[in-house]
Amino acid sequence: MSIYAPLTQLKGVGPKREEKFRGVHIETILDLLYYFPRDYEDLRTPSTFSKGRFGDPLLVKGKIIGKRRIKTKLWKCSIVDREGTIGEVSFFASDFLYPKLEVGRAYYFYGDLGFFGNQAQLTNPKFYTEGQFPKIQGIQPIYPLAKGLKQFEIEKTLELALESLGDLSEILPRPIREKYGLMDRKRAIYEMHRPTSFEDLSEARRRFIFEEFFLLQCSVFYRQGYDINLEGIPMKDQDLDPILQALPFDLTSGQARSLEEILDDLKKDKAMRRLLQGDVGSGKTMVAMLAMLFVVKNGYQTALMAPTEILASQHFQTMEDYYEKFGYKLALLTGKTSPKERKILLEDLAQGKIDTLLGTHALLEEDVEFANLGLVITDEQHRFGVDQRETFLNKGKAIHSLVMTATPIPRTYALANFGDLDLSMIDTLPPGRLPVQTKAIDKDHLHDALNFLRRELLKGHQAYVVTPLIEENESLNLEAAEKVYQDLQKEFADFRLALLHGQLSNQDKEEIMEAFNRGDIDLLVSTTVIEVGVNVPNANVMFIYNAQQFGLAQLHQLRGRVGRGKDQAYCILYNSSDTEKAWERMSIIESTRNGLKIAQKDLELRGAGDFFGTRQSGLSRFFLGDALKDQDLFQKAQKEAQVFFRRYPFSVVEKTPLGDAIKEVEALLSRT
Ligand code: ADP
Ligand code: MG
Repeated sequence: MSIYAPLTQLKGVGPKREEKFRGVHIETILDLLYYFPRDYEDLRTPSTFSKGRFGDPLLVKGKIIGKRRIKTKLWKCSIVDREGTIGEVSFFASDFLYPKLEVGRAYYFYGDLGFFGNQAQLTNPKFYTEGQFPKIQGIQPIYPLAKGLKQFEIEKTLELALESLGDLSEILPRPIREKYGLMDRKRAIYEMHRPTSFEDLSEARRRFIFEEFFLLQCSVFYRQGYDINLEGIPMKDQDLDPILQALPFDLTSGQARSLEEILDDLKKDKAMRRLLQGDVGSGKTMVAMLAMLFVVKNGYQTALMAPTEILASQHFQTMEDYYEKFGYKLALLTGKTSPKERKILLEDLAQGKIDTLLGTHALLEEDVEFANLGLVITDEQHRFGVDQRETFLNKGKAIHSLVMTATPIPRTYALANFGDLDLSMIDTLPPGRLPVQTKAIDKDHLHDALNFLRRELLKGHQAYVVTPLIEENESLNLEAAEKVYQDLQKEFADFRLALLHGQLSNQDKEEIMEAFNRGDIDLLVSTTVIEVGVNVPNANVMFIYNAQQFGLAQLHQLRGRVGRGKDQAYCILYNSSDTEKAWERMSIIESTRNGLKIAQKDLELRGAGDFFGTRQSGLSRFFLGDALKDQDLFQKAQKEAQVFFRRYPFSVVEKTPLGDAIKEVEALLSRT
């Protein structure tokens, strides 16, 4: 059986289970084999309370000597371990377990060790009877779960897949494997799912991280037709000082460094392919403008594409004064531009009378022709597909490209999506910003929170209320938004409210945003359409309904809409669920301000498939490695791929299992 065969080829996998796996982007046997555990539990040998370390997981065998209910949904057992130490296990919200634990019997408990007073305690541990334990004893894999897929279903199906391992050939060239001491593929797959020891597990991981980097790099070369060095227009140095002096602020160190990296690239005869990453509010727009003016001063045109009209016109407003002051021509093209205006604009553009064109994906239309385009910039790039980016790049010859994002993209993903892409990071925020105070609340505190919101409005501030997200169903989203809007209209009858949602026409959206911008609206109730980039400094409260339904990175983005002025800003996360996982996610947002860390956590908690959404389906297995953390392996793999590609023509490689793997990855990449 081929490892590229669909899951249903496995005995006992029917359409129902296939469907569930599809939900986490597992379609082939290979996908499943590469669905690696997110963590492991050490259930090898039971320890004792006295040997456990605070905060670490502990496996302990203990006899129950007492059991009591503290209140509804909370009960505790006292247990004694083999050294005679008495400890406690407590269970929340799992009443059905109560009768399962019998006084006088011994069980194996596994959970994080904490203390209650000076008594050792495990909260919500897993537990096994003496009969059950031998069956699970060992290093147990924990798989990322999603969409109704259960742990045992994954394990059972994997069991079947592992039996077909006979068909799994090695894909890494032997000299490379020997040079870096990499475990062979078959054994490594086995170790990932059924580790014999933590040492072997770590060797298996190392192998796959290398494989991942190597394959991605190979497929990028393959895709580019080995054209590793793209030709570019070399720019001459320009004096940007007059422009820098005209700015109302100094650049932050992160901005200055990123700008310098960009200018260095632009001066080379190799086309720039750079990703500018910076947290929300870090000031990417200014860096973009300065880079564009640098190119304009060189006599070339530039273009910047933003995902929404609101953003595009906000960029226009930010930049127009500077362009005017220095005698350059800036123009804006969106879906809203009238046919008459558009015609004139396109003529000017083709004749080179426009220096910089800002806009939405309207820039991509075929009749938008430039005279001599030198640089294209894509803002919030994750909103655009690879095709759109490529269309944009094809508007000129040998042009430089910069993509900007506030969504921290794991380096591997960036590589996968953009090929050989260099990274600049704005890791500083403009001075004087107070961090946004973030608080997650439950139903009981909703009323207080709304009162708090009222007090801020009374001080003359504005606020955003983001309404529940209902899967990807726009009409249900709207219903939920309207419900919240009606309730709030009653609650805040003395304020000016507006409702913004995805089904409004662009013009209506724009008008509402402009009114909010002017301060004519106090409370903007909105679905997530405001998520990206909007900048209204007087708005200082972000109130998010059913926050548990949003991704962490998304919550972080939303929070970034406030805290742009000089006053203290607040983010209130109304969590209407009471699952432990939801509160855990809330507490990450409460305590973390670093977007990259948040994204990483999100990735861990949700798994890559969910994190990147269905658009990235199939790519999810490429996230074992982290090009930053595993920099050393990353560089080695990159170098080896380069050497390999120089040495062997693809016509030779093509007929090998490595060739198949490269083509498979390439196909995945072009699907995204
Ligand atoms: P983002 O990186 O999220 O796109 P913006 O470019 O919208 O951020 O910038 C956010 C705000 O910070 C804007 O109001 C901008 O004028 C301001 N800003 C940018 N750079 C600086 C700086 N160096 N010092 C002070 N304020 C700055
Ligand atoms: Mg921005």
